[in-house]
Amino acid sequence: MLKDQDRIFTNIYGLKDKSLKGAMSRGHWDGTKQLLEKGRDWIINEVKASGLRGRGGAGFPTGLKWSFMPKESDGRPHYLVVNADESEPGTCKDRDIMRHDPHTLIEGCVVASFAMGAHHAFIYVRGEFMREREALQAAIDECYEYGLLGKNNKLGYDIDVIVHHGAGAYICGEETALLESLEGKKGQPRLKPPFPANMGLYGCPTTVNNVESIAVTPTILRRGAGWYSSFGRPNNTGTKLYSISGHVNKPCTVEESMSIPFHELIEKHCGGIRGGWDNLLAVIPGGSSVPCVPGAQMKDAIMDYDGLREVGSSLGTAAVIVMDKSTDIVKAIWRLSAFYKHESCGQCTPCREGTGWMMRVMERMVKGNAQKREIDMLFQVTKQVEGHTICALGDAAAWPIQGLIKHFRPEMEARIDQYTRNAMAHGVVMEA
Ligand code: NAD
Ligand code: SF4
Repeated sequence: MLKDQDRIFTNIYGLKDKSLKGAMSRGHWDGTKQLLEKGRDWIINEVKASGLRGRGGAGFPTGLKWSFMPKESDGRPHYLVVNADESEPGTCKDRDIMRHDPHTLIEGCVVASFAMGAHHAFIYVRGEFMREREALQAAIDECYEYGLLGKNNKLGYDIDVIVHHGAGAYICGEETALLESLEGKKGQPRLKPPFPANMGLYGCPTTVNNVESIAVTPTILRRGAGWYSSFGRPNNTGTKLYSISGHVNKPCTVEESMSIPFHELIEKHCGGIRGGWDNLLAVIPGGSSVPCVPGAQMKDAIMDYDGLREVGSSLGTAAVIVMDKSTDIVKAIWRLSAFYKHESCGQCTPCREGTGWMMRVMERMVKGNAQKREIDMLFQVTKQVEGHTICALGDAAAWPIQGLIKHFRPEMEARIDQYTRNAMAHGVVMEA
């Protein structure tokens, strides 16, 4: 278990003073100027050496992403954009950083912007996050007042941090839809490549990073890449915020070492599974976009990128949704398919048509009003959507259904049998 002194987020539960004074007393903003004096290359190399991977869900190496930004300016400004549009069902970690520990993010904006030659950092906050935006803005105002931001500041690097409030669309969390929205357009994903480092905000070199990824970087630089990479295991290093919800005794968000075993995470921080481990049905271990895993397979799972791939899922946002045996798993996955159908931006056909089609078939699967061969057909359709869309929302809609069919097919078939029996008892002739 991670020791208290190794936690980067010192106020994740909001029990301490979140003001600049409070943050400074806990070690944030300590020696920031000296970190910048070590130079852009040193910062990027430290972040690379730490092994930090993007905490928004995709796990792309952060230092590598920073190194994609052009070194020399061709006259275009560079931008840092922080993706604070946290909307993945089950995920509530960035929310807690902004609410209770906002200075970790603002200091991170300064070091990351400096490393990439950006003088403007935009934080795109989810539309529903009113209090979070207020907390962030209050912290930014303090920094301007204290001379940590703005022109000719105490750190010797001109930097403005601007909070932009979204309008409440899940798709605006996709980085290029976010950029479109920030530019004042309809939030629809762009085709990639070009990646934002070449053609981002207003056509300029831009890096889009998740809140947690940016907020951890000053502490990594202060304590060293070696310190950070001592947690977890190769390719899966560092500390990580896990948001655990559902049928545990004490749902929570907690910073833990990467690669913590699932069993330990739940026992130490959540007081165990409701009704005991034998009552565990399934877990969605990385936010709603990743496949569910049967409880029996999760018991020994390692909570990192490689560990969860081994059980057929993914770390994603590390939002762990625990379902006990009282859960109607078919209905739960149908609910997710309804969510993705609602949030599809409608730009590409496989997603626009596929999400609606999958949701409607899932609706019938919930009732049992379907034929067994439709389970295979549903699976085939998820395969037609997966990998055939502009952005990852299509995959996100397909994967939970694939997980359901892979692991819970007998439950789906039992419903169909039950529905058929009931119908026949009422004299309805069913097609085989
Ligand atoms: P992605 O793999 O396409 O990209 C990840 C990042 O790496 C992006 O910033 C991208 O620009 C960069 N990148 C990837 N390949 C690159 C290359 N060849 N050159 C330069 N840059 C490159 O994934 P994504 O669509 O950004 O994110 C998908 C993930 O988002 C899902 O796995 C899901 O877990 C997560 N997600 C999170 C939330 C949330 O609320 N945090 C919401 C929805 C989805
Ligand atoms: Fe829009 Fe869906 Fe296509 Fe993404 S996959 S661009 S959300 S229609």
